[in-house]
Amino acid sequence: MYCPRRFALLEINKDWNENAFVVHAELIHEHVHDGSHQFSDHRKVVRSSIDVYNDLPEYDLYGILDCVEFIKNKNGVAINGLDGTYKVRIVEYKPKAPKDAAFHETDAIQVFAQKICADFVWKCNSEAFLYYADTRRRIALPFDESYDTMLKQYLNEMRAIMESHMIPPRKKGQKCSGCSLSDICFHKEEKYNVKDIVMSMKGVSLS
Ligand code: SF4
Repeated sequence: MYCPRRFALLEINKDWNENAFVVHAELIHEHVHDGSHQFSDHRKVVRSSIDVYNDLPEYDLYGILDCVEFIKNKNGVAINGLDGTYKVRIVEYKPKAPKDAAFHETDAIQVFAQKICADFVWKCNSEAFLYYADTRRRIALPFDESYDTMLKQYLNEMRAIMESHMIPPRKKGQKCSGCSLSDICFHKEEKYNVKDIVMSMKGVSLS
């Protein structure tokens, strides 16, 4: 969603580069996933690093949730390994809140994809939140049907890029400040086909 070219550089070309933003985000996630956030009390059970998926053909997604709160509720759903019934609450951790909005739309669509998986696994209608580390605020995400349309559109575009083996050109008006791949991106041709380049290399065996 942020940049199709960045997606293609990461997923097709397997390019990788870190900057301060990437390292900051990684440190926050390391902390969330180290198990110290897990606890249980009479009201809820909190777990981190939970694998989820949705294998319906229109989604076909797998991912790992930062944090899930299972809130005890008699109208909730049964959770494998826990006694009783629960409401499910997803919490995704992000380093920086936007200055001019309650949340980044790019963050929200990621959490919506998580919700699609959580709802599929636990047969529930989960609540979803973003937690921004800089403001220490938790934001409830107001999902509606437009998110489902958006998610399917992005999944189709991502899969089309993967199948094409093409690195798309930079979008007009693309904001690049903060992108860890800018050194790689700006030195390459605008558009090229990775498969063609590999096939044309002399002495490279593809077997
Ligand atoms: S530098 Fe800009 S165009 Fe290139 S991958 Fe990053 S965001 Fe996309």
